[in-house]
Amino acid sequence: MRLQDKFILVTGSARGIGFAIAEKCAKEGAHVGVCDLSADAVNEAVANLQAQGFKASGFACDVSSAANVQTMVDAASKVTGRIDGLVNNAGITQDATLRKMTDEQWNKVINVNLTGVFNCARAVAPGMMDQGSGAIVSISSVVGLYGNFGQTNYAATKAGVLGMTLGWAKELGRKGVRANAVCPGFISTPMVAAMPEKVVDMMKTQVPMGRLGQPEEIANVAAFLLSDEASYVNGATIEVSGGIVM
Ligand code: NAP
Repeated sequence: MRLQDKFILVTGSARGIGFAIAEKCAKEGAHVGVCDLSADAVNEAVANLQAQGFKASGFACDVSSAANVQTMVDAASKVTGRIDGLVNNAGITQDATLRKMTDEQWNKVINVNLTGVFNCARAVAPGMMDQGSGAIVSISSVVGLYGNFGQTNYAATKAGVLGMTLGWAKELGRKGVRANAVCPGFISTPMVAAMPEKVVDMMKTQVPMGRLGQPEEIANVAAFLLSDEASYVNGATIEVSGGIVM
């Protein structure tokens, strides 16, 4: 198993892509840290994983709060004595066209998707550098590469995540810590299920493979990047989008 005995912390992992990543890492032998906003949702996800015979610990945490994140990382570090991998997955959308986007919509998405990723990476990096190994995988989006109608805030954060990843690859690489990003296309999760059917059908026409992706198809790539099989992959952005044309 590729992640045997590693401790992997996954943010926003009570459901959707994050849960699929946590489950895949657990299947690969990792002890997973499930981090999400709601304590009830965290407990449910941890119980699900443990019922499958996997090792999982839960942390209710708002990634947009630096204090919350530090408390979570301090607690998570004590579970096995180290954090081998961080997956920055927690993310939200608050869509509006440029002229209609409110300060509140802008700030909310920046606080979770950009500051949240910064908070988590900053909190785990010292421990990883001290132990001389670690992997940070951040879930960006094809929207960070190509932009999207009505998503000024979201595109800014997802492009920002790619920039931060490149910086961390340079800063942390010499200490044995790798940083990479995954850009999913349109994936079948609660986030997409909330969209009108007409919009989802339109999204499918943009994908040469003619379908949405499954959360497990993102999880497979994240697990690879977290594993030692990716030992020389650093600063990479991997698009997992069925070849989308936006
Ligand atoms: P999702 O189903 O909405 O799940 C996101 C999870 O993150 C939820 O459990 C959510 O909790 C949690 N979360 C939200 N704000 C948080 C915070 N401040 N602190 C901690 N956890 C928080 O989303 P998804 O579709 O799986 O997306 C996961 C990631 O992939 C996101 O970064 C998203 O931008 C990215 N992505 C998704 C797609 C797609 O098509 N689905 C495409 C490209 C990129 P609540 O439920 O309590 O809000």
